[in-house]
Amino acid sequence: MTKKPRVSFNLSPGELDQALAAWNRDLDVMAPRRIKGRGRMAGQDVIRYAPVVAGNDIEWRQKSTFSPKVVLFPPNETLFHLVGDRIVEPSGDRPERPLLLFCRACDIHGVDRLDRVFLDNGPAPDPFYQRRRARLRFALIECATSMENCFCVSMGTNVAKDYSLSIRFLPDGGALVEVRDADLLAGIPGTAAAADFSPLFVQEDDSPVRVPDSDALAREIRENDLFDHPMWEPYSKRCIACGRCNFSCPTCSCFSTLDATSEDTPELGVRRRVWAGCHVDRFTEMAGGHDVRTDYGSRMRFKTMHKIHDFQQRFGTHMCVGCGRCDDQCPEYISFSTCINRVADIVERKAEG
Ligand code: SF4
Ligand code: SF4
Repeated sequence: MTKKPRVSFNLSPGELDQALAAWNRDLDVMAPRRIKGRGRMAGQDVIRYAPVVAGNDIEWRQKSTFSPKVVLFPPNETLFHLVGDRIVEPSGDRPERPLLLFCRACDIHGVDRLDRVFLDNGPAPDPFYQRRRARLRFALIECATSMENCFCVSMGTNVAKDYSLSIRFLPDGGALVEVRDADLLAGIPGTAAAADFSPLFVQEDDSPVRVPDSDALAREIRENDLFDHPMWEPYSKRCIACGRCNFSCPTCSCFSTLDATSEDTPELGVRRRVWAGCHVDRFTEMAGGHDVRTDYGSRMRFKTMHKIHDFQQRFGTHMCVGCGRCDDQCPEYISFSTCINRVADIVERKAEG
């Protein structure tokens, strides 16, 4: 893949379809797709990542229910099979072609957070994640205005710079496209009109947050027992531990490793990893049955501290990218942005006096 000076085009609906067909010849192309009637309540749709071959396949007007995390870190992944004393890797899910992934700026930052967890967080990178990540190229979907519950501007994730093309979908089914990689340029139909397009980035949040200063927050935890503050109590009553906030989050990266063997054929087995989440029952249960966070408010506290404090202490950037999906998906209308602002109120009040 060679980089060229960027060029942009105004594609009609038919030309966008031609470009997607051309890119599909050499790449896998995935984007948010609306799946009718498969949402969490009867009659609701779900928007999730899937292969696309035409402009109409892409749901760009609304935020996706699930983030692109599913592409890199599948909810239920077979790591290997055990056949006698041999380890056999699954043969079906090892695509080699590059993957062009349509996603928004916050989700590109979300992949950066996953990179830190799976590639930079130990003596060796996670090979399963690394293999998928090596294929990835981004097609940035322009977000010029904030969607409901979003706070990417507050988190500094509203602008993304690392992408192979950017796109503004137009109401008529066409698109303005900025192409940065020469091989993608070859997919633009010769009939496409030149344009002067570069993406806009949202500058104002729907749900702005004030992320507390890291040192002040650390002091509050250390000296004033923020962990035992009454602010966490309402979450104990409201949260139902469904885990939707974890599973829709682009940066939640916890998993359980499950081994299964066959009773009637003991030489066969399989190791899988499946998503787990800090809100879900038994997440912190240890051998012997002791569970360190049975209270739901303490789980909210743990998630909050990880998203806006601990991760930053370790990696220098906040884990939360402000996509607002946790708020979108919570059946109890628990707002994470409100929670962050409550923590900020406590820290700022203490700092003032
Ligand atoms: S914690 Fe919520 S707002 Fe932050 S990245 Fe996860 S889902 Fe998005
Ligand atoms: S989505 Fe809401 S109710 Fe479900 S675990 Fe998360 S905070 Fe609790």
